[in-house]
Amino acid sequence: MYRGTTRFKCTECAEIFKAPDIEYMATMMSVPQPCPHCGSIGTIPHSILPFSNMFNKSIYESIWKSMEERR
Ligand SMILES: [Zn+2]
Repeated sequence: MYRGTTRFKCTECAEIFKAPDIEYMATMMSVPQPCPHCGSIGTIPHSILPFSNMFNKSIYESIWKSMEERR
C-alpha cells in the first residue's frame, strides 16, 4: 500500500533522499527504495529519533537480505 513519501537514509553513502513510502508485506515497515546516489538497496526510512534508527537497522537488515535473494 502506498503511504505517500518519506525520507530514507542510505547506509552505504549516508545520502538522505525522499522516495515513495510503500508498505512492506502489510507491516509497519516500508519497502527500502534504492539510493539515487549510489544505487544501494541498503536504505532505511530516516527518523529523527536515533533510537528508532538503531532499532530499524536490525529489522531492515533482514529485509535487505530477502530482497537480495529475490533479485
Ligand atoms: Zn547511497
